[in-house]
Amino acid sequence: MVGKISIGVIGIQGAITEHINSIEKTLEETNTSGKVFVVNKKEEIDNIDALLIPGGESTVISRILFRSGLYSAIFKRLERKNLPIMGTCAGCVLLASKISNDSKDIKLLNAIEMEVTRNAFGRQEESFEKKINIEGLINPYNAIFIRAPVIEKVWGSCKILAKIENKMVMVRQENILALSFHPELTNDLRIHKYFLDMIQIYKSKDL
Ligand code: GLN
Repeated sequence: MVGKISIGVIGIQGAITEHINSIEKTLEETNTSGKVFVVNKKEEIDNIDALLIPGGESTVISRILFRSGLYSAIFKRLERKNLPIMGTCAGCVLLASKISNDSKDIKLLNAIEMEVTRNAFGRQEESFEKKINIEGLINPYNAIFIRAPVIEKVWGSCKILAKIENKMVMVRQENILALSFHPELTNDLRIHKYFLDMIQIYKSKDL
């Protein structure tokens, strides 16, 4: 049994409310005691058990994370390896250690040993849905992609959880989870549940 879980969602851009709703439903369905709220101040990072970085424009999110001091607060928690983070789409880009294109305005969190390509599906396929198989989930998952990145390369202890053909779209390295699609835009809560399981493991370790 772990105590009440506190989950912050970076409130800069993207489907913030949808992520909050998905987490609230997940807490309810799994009978987990917890709260989820928007995080805008660096001080809030010290007291949360987990962090979610939504999609949006990675250049904009990066700039605001940096200016607000949120970037260094997150970075400190990353060093202590005790903050589970889930990044979706632009959030996935920010967690990378390298970007293969258009990266001059982006300061990366360097949280996962991976290289990403932004907007990797080209103009013809800016937004689409695709059924994908995800490691650990029994049935296929209908993933929504919006100007999505792909994960080009991974190394170190980074594990691949899902691919479209040979393009990686979901990976995990220890306490950090990155996906290039938008789980908050579906009613399928399995990804938020997966993240909640990760959070509970880290919280029970009480690092
Ligand atoms: N194309 C955006 C980026 O690089 C990501 C889009 C999204 O989050 N839906 O930053």
